[in-house]
Amino acid sequence: MLVLGIESSCDETGVALYDTERGLIADQLHSQMAMHAEYGGVVPELASRDHIRRIRPLTDACLADAGVSLQDIDAVAFTQGPGLGGALLVGASFANALAFGLGKPVIPVHHLEGHLLSPLLAEPRPTFPFLALLVSGGHTQIMAVRGVGQYEILGETLDDAAGEAFDKTAKLLGLPYPGGPLLSKLAEEGDPARFTLPRPMLRSGDLDMSFSGLKTAVLTLSKQVQAEHGGIDEQARKDICRAFQEAIVEVLVSKCQQALKQTGMSQLVVAGGVGANKQLRAALDAAAKRRKFAVYYPPLKLCTDNGAMIAFAGAMRLSQAQPAGSFTVKPRWDLSSLPAV
Ligand code: ATP
Ligand code: MG
Ligand code: FE
Repeated sequence: MLVLGIESSCDETGVALYDTERGLIADQLHSQMAMHAEYGGVVPELASRDHIRRIRPLTDACLADAGVSLQDIDAVAFTQGPGLGGALLVGASFANALAFGLGKPVIPVHHLEGHLLSPLLAEPRPTFPFLALLVSGGHTQIMAVRGVGQYEILGETLDDAAGEAFDKTAKLLGLPYPGGPLLSKLAEEGDPARFTLPRPMLRSGDLDMSFSGLKTAVLTLSKQVQAEHGGIDEQARKDICRAFQEAIVEVLVSKCQQALKQTGMSQLVVAGGVGANKQLRAALDAAAKRRKFAVYYPPLKLCTDNGAMIAFAGAMRLSQAQPAGSFTVKPRWDLSSLPAV
Protein backbone atom coordinates (compact mmCIF):
# COMPACT_ATOMS: atom_id res chain seq x y z
CA MET A 1 0.00 0.00 0.00
CA LEU A 2 1.25 3.45 -0.91
CA VAL A 3 0.55 6.33 1.50
CA LEU A 4 1.09 10.00 0.67
CA GLY A 5 1.82 12.00 3.84
CA ILE A 6 1.22 15.74 4.21
CA GLU A 7 2.62 17.82 7.09
CA SER A 8 1.71 21.52 7.51
CA SER A 9 1.19 22.05 11.25
CA CYS A 10 3.67 24.88 11.71
CA ASP A 11 6.46 26.30 9.57
CA GLU A 12 7.53 23.27 7.55
CA THR A 13 5.70 21.94 4.52
CA GLY A 14 6.48 18.23 4.27
CA VAL A 15 5.28 15.73 1.69
CA ALA A 16 6.42 12.10 1.52
CA LEU A 17 5.53 8.69 0.13
CA TYR A 18 5.68 5.59 2.32
CA ASP A 19 5.22 2.18 0.75
CA THR A 20 4.34 -0.60 3.21
CA GLU A 21 6.52 -2.99 1.17
CA ARG A 22 9.40 -0.78 0.12
CA GLY A 23 9.54 1.77 2.94
CA LEU A 24 10.08 5.48 2.48
CA ILE A 25 10.37 6.15 -1.25
CA ALA A 26 10.17 9.96 -1.40
CA ASP A 27 10.50 12.75 1.14
CA GLN A 28 10.29 16.45 0.25
CA LEU A 29 10.51 19.33 2.70
CA HIS A 30 10.36 23.09 2.58
CA SER A 31 11.24 25.01 5.74
CA GLN A 32 9.88 28.54 6.15
CA MET A 33 12.54 29.37 8.73
CA ALA A 34 14.24 32.04 6.62
CA MET A 35 10.88 33.69 5.88
CA HIS A 36 9.94 33.96 9.57
CA ALA A 37 13.44 34.95 10.71
CA GLU A 38 12.95 38.68 10.15
CA TYR A 39 9.97 38.60 12.53
CA GLY A 40 11.82 36.60 15.20
CA GLY A 41 9.18 33.87 15.23
CA VAL A 42 6.51 32.10 13.20
CA VAL A 43 3.84 34.44 11.76
CA PRO A 44 0.75 32.20 11.38
CA GLU A 45 -0.82 33.99 8.40
CA LEU A 46 2.45 33.94 6.45
CA ALA A 47 2.89 30.28 7.33
CA SER A 48 -0.53 29.36 5.89
CA ARG A 49 0.09 31.28 2.68
CA ASP A 50 3.47 29.69 2.17
CA HIS A 51 2.08 26.17 2.72
CA ILE A 52 -0.38 26.92 -0.12
CA ARG A 53 2.51 27.92 -2.39
CA ARG A 54 4.68 24.90 -1.59
CA ILE A 55 2.37 21.95 -1.13
CA ARG A 56 1.60 21.16 -4.77
CA PRO A 57 5.18 21.46 -6.13
CA LEU A 58 6.47 19.31 -3.24
CA THR A 59 3.85 16.66 -4.04
CA ASP A 60 4.85 16.68 -7.71
CA ALA A 61 8.51 16.35 -6.72
CA CYS A 62 7.70 13.34 -4.51
CA LEU A 63 5.85 11.58 -7.31
CA ALA A 64 8.73 12.28 -9.72
CA ASP A 65 11.36 11.07 -7.21
CA ALA A 66 9.50 7.84 -6.59
CA GLY A 67 8.52 7.36 -10.24
CA VAL A 68 4.86 6.84 -9.37
CA SER A 69 1.68 8.59 -10.46
CA LEU A 70 -1.18 10.01 -8.41
CA GLN A 71 -3.29 6.98 -9.31
CA ASP A 72 -0.79 4.69 -7.54
CA ILE A 73 -1.54 6.28 -4.15
CA ASP A 74 -3.79 4.16 -1.91
CA ALA A 75 -4.46 6.71 0.85
CA VAL A 76 -3.57 10.27 1.81
CA ALA A 77 -2.43 10.90 5.40
CA PHE A 78 -2.38 14.45 6.73
CA THR A 79 -1.57 16.18 10.02
CA GLN A 80 -4.93 16.96 11.60
CA GLY A 81 -3.39 18.58 14.69
CA PRO A 82 -2.10 19.87 16.98
CA GLY A 83 -0.68 23.03 15.43
CA LEU A 84 -1.62 26.38 13.90
CA GLY A 85 -5.25 26.31 12.75
CA GLY A 86 -4.71 28.05 9.42
CA ALA A 87 -1.59 26.05 8.61
CA LEU A 88 -3.33 22.75 9.43
CA LEU A 89 -6.26 23.74 7.21
CA VAL A 90 -4.00 24.02 4.17
CA GLY A 91 -2.72 20.45 4.52
CA ALA A 92 -6.11 19.06 5.51
CA SER A 93 -7.95 20.65 2.59
CA PHE A 94 -5.24 19.72 0.09
CA ALA A 95 -5.18 16.11 1.31
CA ASN A 96 -8.97 15.80 1.25
CA ALA A 97 -9.39 17.43 -2.15
CA LEU A 98 -6.68 15.24 -3.66
CA ALA A 99 -8.00 12.04 -2.11
CA PHE A 100 -11.60 12.90 -3.01
CA GLY A 101 -10.60 13.49 -6.62
CA LEU A 102 -8.75 10.18 -6.72
CA GLY A 103 -11.54 8.29 -4.99
CA LYS A 104 -9.14 7.27 -2.21
CA PRO A 105 -9.50 7.53 1.59
CA VAL A 106 -7.73 9.90 3.99
CA ILE A 107 -6.01 9.17 7.30
CA PRO A 108 -5.95 12.01 9.85
CA VAL A 109 -2.67 11.85 11.80
CA HIS A 110 -1.70 13.31 15.19
CA HIS A 111 1.52 15.31 14.68
CA LEU A 112 3.08 14.00 17.90
CA GLU A 113 2.31 10.41 16.96
CA GLY A 114 4.28 11.17 13.82
CA HIS A 115 7.26 12.33 15.90
CA LEU A 116 6.85 9.43 18.30
CA LEU A 117 6.88 6.73 15.63
CA SER A 118 9.64 8.34 13.52
CA PRO A 119 12.44 6.28 15.16
CA LEU A 120 10.78 3.25 13.53
CA LEU A 121 11.98 4.70 10.20
CA ALA A 122 15.62 4.11 11.22
CA GLU A 123 17.63 0.90 11.58
CA PRO A 124 17.81 -0.84 13.99
CA ARG A 125 14.16 -0.40 14.93
CA PRO A 126 12.85 -0.50 18.48
CA THR A 127 10.06 -2.97 19.24
CA PHE A 128 6.95 -2.33 21.36
CA PRO A 129 6.79 -1.71 24.26
CA PHE A 130 9.27 1.14 24.70
CA LEU A 131 9.78 4.30 26.68
CA ALA A 132 9.68 7.50 24.64
CA LEU A 133 11.21 10.88 25.31
CA LEU A 134 9.40 13.37 23.13
CA VAL A 135 11.38 16.62 23.07
CA SER A 136 10.11 19.09 20.50
CA GLY A 137 9.43 22.79 20.15
CA GLY A 138 6.03 22.56 21.78
CA HIS A 139 6.19 19.42 23.91
CA THR A 140 8.39 17.61 26.40
CA GLN A 141 6.93 14.34 27.60
CA ILE A 142 8.05 10.95 28.81
CA MET A 143 5.71 8.23 27.64
CA ALA A 144 5.21 4.51 27.92
CA VAL A 145 4.43 3.31 24.40
CA ARG A 146 2.85 -0.13 24.30
CA GLY A 147 1.71 -0.06 20.68
CA VAL A 148 0.42 2.33 18.02
CA GLY A 149 -2.11 4.53 19.82
CA GLN A 150 -1.24 3.16 23.27
CA TYR A 151 0.47 6.10 24.88
CA GLU A 152 0.65 6.69 28.60
CA ILE A 153 2.16 9.99 29.66
CA LEU A 154 4.37 9.37 32.69
CA GLY A 155 5.75 12.85 33.07
CA GLU A 156 5.95 16.15 31.23
CA THR A 157 7.12 19.71 31.44
CA LEU A 158 5.01 21.91 33.66
CA ASP A 159 5.88 25.02 31.64
CA ASP A 160 8.23 25.49 28.66
CA ALA A 161 9.08 22.62 26.31
CA ALA A 162 12.78 21.81 25.97
CA GLY A 163 12.92 23.18 22.41
CA GLU A 164 11.08 26.29 23.50
CA ALA A 165 13.63 26.77 26.30
CA PHE A 166 16.45 26.47 23.76
CA ASP A 167 14.79 29.00 21.44
CA LYS A 168 13.84 31.52 24.15
CA THR A 169 17.25 31.34 25.80
CA ALA A 170 18.93 31.81 22.44
CA LYS A 171 16.82 34.92 21.81
CA LEU A 172 17.71 36.28 25.23
CA LEU A 173 21.41 35.78 24.39
CA GLY A 174 20.92 37.77 21.20
CA LEU A 175 21.19 34.83 18.80
CA PRO A 176 19.23 35.05 15.54
CA TYR A 177 16.03 33.03 15.06
CA PRO A 178 15.64 30.08 15.23
CA GLY A 179 18.09 29.98 18.08
CA GLY A 180 17.95 26.40 19.38
CA PRO A 181 20.32 24.70 16.93
CA LEU A 182 22.67 27.70 16.95
CA LEU A 183 22.79 27.83 20.75
CA SER A 184 23.72 24.16 20.78
CA LYS A 185 26.51 24.76 18.24
CA LEU A 186 28.00 27.50 20.42
CA ALA A 187 27.63 25.28 23.49
CA GLU A 188 29.90 22.71 21.86
CA GLU A 189 32.73 25.25 22.07
CA GLY A 190 31.86 26.32 25.60
CA ASP A 191 33.64 25.36 28.80
CA PRO A 192 31.37 23.12 30.89
CA ALA A 193 33.29 23.91 34.08
CA ARG A 194 33.04 27.72 34.02
CA PHE A 195 29.40 28.27 35.02
CA THR A 196 26.80 26.08 36.68
CA LEU A 197 23.06 26.62 36.30
CA PRO A 198 20.33 24.98 38.39
CA ARG A 199 18.88 21.58 37.41
CA PRO A 200 15.15 22.25 37.80
CA MET A 201 13.12 19.44 39.38
CA LEU A 202 16.03 17.01 39.14
CA ARG A 203 15.07 15.53 42.51
CA SER A 204 11.32 16.11 42.41
CA GLY A 205 10.79 12.37 42.76
CA ASP A 206 8.43 12.27 39.78
CA LEU A 207 8.93 12.41 36.02
CA ASP A 208 7.76 15.98 35.55
CA MET A 209 10.09 18.73 34.38
CA SER A 210 10.28 22.51 34.28
CA PHE A 211 12.43 24.60 31.99
CA SER A 212 11.10 28.13 32.17
CA GLY A 213 13.20 28.99 35.24
CA LEU A 214 16.38 28.24 33.31
CA LYS A 215 15.79 31.25 31.06
CA THR A 216 15.69 33.50 34.10
CA ALA A 217 18.81 31.83 35.47
CA VAL A 218 20.58 32.49 32.17
CA LEU A 219 19.45 36.12 32.27
CA THR A 220 20.75 36.55 35.82
CA LEU A 221 24.05 34.87 34.92
CA SER A 222 24.42 37.07 31.81
CA LYS A 223 23.88 40.22 33.87
CA GLN A 224 26.46 39.03 36.38
CA VAL A 225 29.06 38.34 33.70
CA GLN A 226 28.28 41.67 32.09
CA ALA A 227 28.71 43.54 35.37
CA GLU A 228 31.98 41.76 36.19
CA HIS A 229 33.58 41.99 32.77
CA GLY A 230 31.92 45.04 31.27
CA GLY A 231 30.29 42.90 28.57
CA ILE A 232 29.90 39.37 27.28
CA ASP A 233 32.62 38.29 24.87
CA GLU A 234 32.30 35.42 22.41
CA GLN A 235 33.85 32.85 24.75
CA ALA A 236 31.66 33.90 27.71
CA ARG A 237 28.59 33.54 25.52
CA LYS A 238 29.69 30.05 24.49
CA ASP A 239 30.32 29.17 28.14
CA ILE A 240 26.82 30.36 29.11
CA CYS A 241 25.31 28.34 26.24
CA ARG A 242 27.23 25.32 27.50
CA ALA A 243 26.02 25.78 31.08
CA PHE A 244 22.42 25.97 29.84
CA GLN A 245 22.77 22.88 27.65
CA GLU A 246 24.50 20.92 30.45
CA ALA A 247 21.54 21.65 32.75
CA ILE A 248 18.83 20.65 30.27
CA VAL A 249 20.66 17.51 29.16
CA GLU A 250 21.30 16.35 32.73
CA VAL A 251 17.63 16.74 33.66
CA LEU A 252 16.40 14.93 30.52
CA VAL A 253 18.85 12.04 30.91
CA SER A 254 18.12 11.65 34.61
CA LYS A 255 14.33 11.63 34.09
CA CYS A 256 14.67 9.03 31.34
CA GLN A 257 16.76 6.80 33.60
CA GLN A 258 14.18 7.12 36.37
CA ALA A 259 11.38 6.27 33.96
CA LEU A 260 13.22 3.21 32.65
CA LYS A 261 13.73 2.01 36.20
CA GLN A 262 10.12 2.71 37.14
CA THR A 263 8.64 0.89 34.12
CA GLY A 264 11.24 -1.87 33.87
CA MET A 265 11.53 -1.11 30.17
CA SER A 266 14.84 -1.55 28.37
CA GLN A 267 14.37 0.51 25.21
CA LEU A 268 14.33 4.29 25.04
CA VAL A 269 13.15 6.10 21.93
CA VAL A 270 13.94 9.79 21.44
CA ALA A 271 11.81 11.92 19.12
CA GLY A 272 11.29 15.58 18.27
CA GLY A 273 13.60 18.42 17.26
CA VAL A 274 15.73 18.46 20.42
CA GLY A 275 16.50 14.82 19.65
CA ALA A 276 18.92 16.23 17.07
CA ASN A 277 21.01 17.72 19.89
CA LYS A 278 24.48 16.16 19.84
CA GLN A 279 25.20 16.51 23.54
CA LEU A 280 21.84 14.96 24.47
CA ARG A 281 22.54 12.03 22.15
CA ALA A 282 26.04 11.55 23.55
CA ALA A 283 24.80 11.67 27.15
CA LEU A 284 21.98 9.21 26.46
CA ASP A 285 24.35 6.88 24.60
CA ALA A 286 26.75 6.94 27.56
CA ALA A 287 23.93 6.27 30.05
CA ALA A 288 22.63 3.45 27.85
CA LYS A 289 26.04 1.79 27.93
CA ARG A 290 26.35 2.18 31.70
CA ARG A 291 22.81 1.14 32.56
CA LYS A 292 22.40 -1.49 29.84
CA PHE A 293 19.44 -0.13 27.95
CA ALA A 294 19.09 0.50 24.22
CA VAL A 295 18.46 3.96 22.81
CA TYR A 296 16.94 4.73 19.41
CA TYR A 297 16.73 7.97 17.44
CA PRO A 298 15.02 8.95 14.21
CA PRO A 299 17.34 9.64 11.27
CA LEU A 300 18.79 13.11 12.03
CA LYS A 301 16.81 14.92 9.34
CA LEU A 302 13.54 13.39 10.56
CA CYS A 303 13.91 14.81 14.11
CA THR A 304 12.20 18.09 13.21
CA ASP A 305 8.92 18.35 11.29
CA ASN A 306 8.65 16.38 8.05
CA GLY A 307 6.18 14.58 5.81
CA ALA A 308 7.86 11.17 6.19
CA MET A 309 6.71 10.70 9.78
CA ILE A 310 3.13 11.57 8.77
CA ALA A 311 3.16 9.15 5.83
CA PHE A 312 4.58 6.46 8.13
CA ALA A 313 2.11 7.07 10.99
CA GLY A 314 -0.65 7.04 8.34
CA ALA A 315 0.58 3.66 7.10
CA MET A 316 0.40 2.36 10.69
CA ARG A 317 -3.22 3.54 10.80
CA LEU A 318 -4.38 2.31 7.40
CA SER A 319 -7.13 0.36 9.14
CA GLN A 320 -8.63 3.69 10.18
CA ALA A 321 -8.67 5.25 6.72
CA GLN A 322 -11.90 7.17 6.17
CA PRO A 323 -13.74 8.64 3.19
CA ALA A 324 -12.28 11.92 1.95
CA GLY A 325 -14.46 14.98 1.74
CA SER A 326 -15.62 16.77 4.86
CA PHE A 327 -12.87 17.24 7.43
CA THR A 328 -11.88 19.12 10.56
CA VAL A 329 -8.55 20.16 12.04
CA LYS A 330 -7.62 19.94 15.72
CA PRO A 331 -5.28 22.78 16.72
CA ARG A 332 -5.35 21.32 20.26
CA TRP A 333 -5.50 17.55 20.54
CA ASP A 334 -4.57 15.28 23.41
CA LEU A 335 -2.27 12.44 22.34
CA SER A 336 -3.59 10.03 24.93
CA SER A 337 -7.09 10.32 23.42
CA LEU A 338 -6.02 8.42 20.27
CA PRO A 339 -7.57 5.02 19.61
CA ALA A 340 -5.26 2.01 19.72
CA VAL A 341 -4.62 0.15 16.46
P1 ATP B 1 5.73 20.24 18.24
O1 ATP B 1 6.17 19.08 17.45
O2 ATP B 1 5.78 20.05 19.71
O3 ATP B 1 4.45 20.80 17.76
P2 ATP B 1 7.69 21.67 16.68
O4 ATP B 1 7.09 20.92 15.55
O5 ATP B 1 7.90 23.12 16.52
O6 ATP B 1 6.82 21.41 17.99
P3 ATP B 1 10.05 20.17 16.22
O7 ATP B 1 9.98 20.48 14.79
O8 ATP B 1 9.99 18.76 16.62
O9 ATP B 1 9.06 21.02 17.09
O10 ATP B 1 11.43 20.71 16.77
C1 ATP B 1 11.80 22.08 16.70
C2 ATP B 1 12.52 22.42 17.98
O11 ATP B 1 13.73 21.66 18.11
C3 ATP B 1 12.91 23.87 18.07
O12 ATP B 1 12.54 24.37 19.34
C4 ATP B 1 14.43 23.83 17.90
O13 ATP B 1 15.10 24.85 18.59
C5 ATP B 1 14.77 22.49 18.51
N1 ATP B 1 16.04 21.97 18.00
C6 ATP B 1 16.34 21.58 16.74
N2 ATP B 1 17.62 21.17 16.65
C7 ATP B 1 18.15 21.30 17.89
C8 ATP B 1 19.43 21.03 18.46
N3 ATP B 1 20.43 20.55 17.74
N4 ATP B 1 19.59 21.28 19.78
C9 ATP B 1 18.57 21.75 20.54
N5 ATP B 1 17.36 22.03 20.05
C10 ATP B 1 17.14 21.80 18.75
MG1 MG C 1 9.36 23.94 12.69
FE1 FE D 1 6.83 18.92 15.47
